[in-house]
Amino acid sequence: MGLFGGRKTVHVDSDVLVIGGGMAGCGATYESRFWGRDKKVVVVEKANIERSGAVAQGLYAINCYMGMQWDENKPEDHVRYARNDLMGLVREDLGYDIARHVDATVHMFEEWGLPIMKDPKTGRYMREGKWQIMIHGESYKPIVAEAARKAATKVYNRIMVTHLLMDKKKENRIAGAVGFNVRTGEFYVFRAKAVIVAAGGASHIYKPRSVGEGMGRTWYAPWSSASAYALPILVGAKMTQMENRIVLTRFKDGYGPVGAYFLHLKTYTENAYGNEYESTWYENTKAMVGDYVDRQPVPTCLRNHAFLEEMKAGRGPIRMVTKEAFQDPHKETVGWENFLGMTVGQAVVWAAQNIDPKEINPELTTSEPYVMGSHATCSGAWASGPEDYAPDEYQWGYNRMMTVDGLFGAGDTIGGTAHKFSSGSFAEGRIAGKAAIKYIDDLGKDTPEVSQDEYQKLQKTVFQPLENYSVGRNEIVAGTVSPSYLLPLHGLQRLEKIMDEYVGGISAHYITNEPLLTRGLELLEMLKEDLHHLGAEDLHQLQRAWELQHRVLASESVTHHTMFRKETRWPGYYYRGDHMKLDDTDWHCFTLSQYNREANEWTMEKAPVYHIVD
Ligand SMILES: Cc1cc2nc3c(=O)[nH]c(=O)nc-3n(C[C@H](O)[C@H](O)[C@H](O)COP(=O)(O)OP(=O)(O)OC[C@H]3O[C@@H](n4cnc5c(N)ncnc54)[C@H](O)[C@@H]3O)c2cc1C
Repeated sequence: MGLFGGRKTVHVDSDVLVIGGGMAGCGATYESRFWGRDKKVVVVEKANIERSGAVAQGLYAINCYMGMQWDENKPEDHVRYARNDLMGLVREDLGYDIARHVDATVHMFEEWGLPIMKDPKTGRYMREGKWQIMIHGESYKPIVAEAARKAATKVYNRIMVTHLLMDKKKENRIAGAVGFNVRTGEFYVFRAKAVIVAAGGASHIYKPRSVGEGMGRTWYAPWSSASAYALPILVGAKMTQMENRIVLTRFKDGYGPVGAYFLHLKTYTENAYGNEYESTWYENTKAMVGDYVDRQPVPTCLRNHAFLEEMKAGRGPIRMVTKEAFQDPHKETVGWENFLGMTVGQAVVWAAQNIDPKEINPELTTSEPYVMGSHATCSGAWASGPEDYAPDEYQWGYNRMMTVDGLFGAGDTIGGTAHKFSSGSFAEGRIAGKAAIKYIDDLGKDTPEVSQDEYQKLQKTVFQPLENYSVGRNEIVAGTVSPSYLLPLHGLQRLEKIMDEYVGGISAHYITNEPLLTRGLELLEMLKEDLHHLGAEDLHQLQRAWELQHRVLASESVTHHTMFRKETRWPGYYYRGDHMKLDDTDWHCFTLSQYNREANEWTMEKAPVYHIVD
């Protein structure tokens, strides 16, 4: 029995297969059960849904709540807000669909035991900002996970999904997925009638600010490894807005959140000399993006832009003025608790660096770019919209179905819908779950079939890094360097360097251009060739190997999209040095890509942006 012969294969049959048990995956599971009482709903998660995904550590605020019961906001208001923040380009049909359902989702969270802070005078949820409500959210994820666990037929924890499976009878139709148990090494073949991908966003595709032993400290969850994009990309699903990576202004070194500071504590920023600086860059920004700079609130990327320009002008560091607010004991408590609920590391950094925000105004910095679809950015899969609201061109089947039949998505996975956050991701999961059940009911007896030949080949591919390591391990020449294999960490560092230097990362001041992108693509291609020689010492490293594979494919997509959009639409997120202005005449559109696995080719196209809300 060799490496492959002795490995157990576990077959799992399901109606709905949910990949990733984070916020969107839990929502999808809950709603699939609601509409599909008799259906087999299976969740597969690479960690443990109890504490997995970007909400693992907890949150201090729910960032997407309309407050329709108190007439605070309407769904249309949220569409206008997201459209403005994303410089005009959002899928208004999808955004509206989430906004009209998100309040009901938050009310369920409260019913399930999530403590939401209330204004004692009005009884309303306490607002941090126009869209945010404050929670005691340390246990947010376990509360949500409990609902999903009760709804699911079975949750398979500790299984990383590496590939989707296609139907052997019908072209472009999904039939399941494969993966491996990261603890036991068993190979899993999941057969499904519909698959919902809810596998989070992508960190660590760009070189992070934190290096060496601190490398794991990034703003977005370090375990968000781009599976949400790579899995659909590999089976030919179209992606949209992958160039729309996000850069965050955060407290330096700990990436601590600033939202509650700005919105609730009413703190503000200044340069090293104590001066306000955003107005200094008004004319410069206006020359690049026109009237978008006059919109309220000022789009997130443009605020980053002023920050970056001020730093380049030599007047950094930029600081958050906390000294005034922290004189108020209540605000001081809120300031610290804000970290304890979701980013304890920031409090530890301040303690370690002798920073008491009552005495010293802490430094801010801009993060490396991340790719995701649920925050102030909208990279992800191109999905069909709601029947009652989406224009014809955005509708080819079931709500949140991608361009592959039976393949659905939610949360960070789906593109074009910024500002959904934790609550909107769960709500979108519910939307996808409901649609997936309808799709299955409509299938009737015409059910998909997986090909044994396909999954057996994939089994060999999936475990190949273990084989590479065991064959080549005696050739190590310098501790961990081998002439015959590449370790996942080395591959990751190579990827991050390419993306950083060629595709607009921190060391290039987020600037790129066509020659840089062209070279970046060549280097990514060379990296892809070497990935056949990844070596994994154990199952943990095997997981790292597949996370790297997913990150590389998503990075390639980002690079193609960045090359295609010949303008600078979001200064402060990235710049096309050869097209430094926003160009609404040619680029007020979505960018779409499709990967052909057999030919290893990408095709790019434009899709129209429909403004449905006035
Ligand atoms: C630092 C930070 C602060 C935030 N602050 C707020 C806030 O204050 N308020 C707010 O409302 N929102 C906030 N958000 C946003 C919110 O966390 C996300 O919008 C939400 O978690 C996205 O949901 P998702 O299901 O798409 O991804 P996730 O919740 O990240 O879930 C993805 C899941 O997929 C699993 N997975 C990944 N790959 C695989 C694979 N190959 N196989 C199997 N499983 C896989 C992961 O382990 C994970 O469980 C914040 C996010 C971050 C990172």
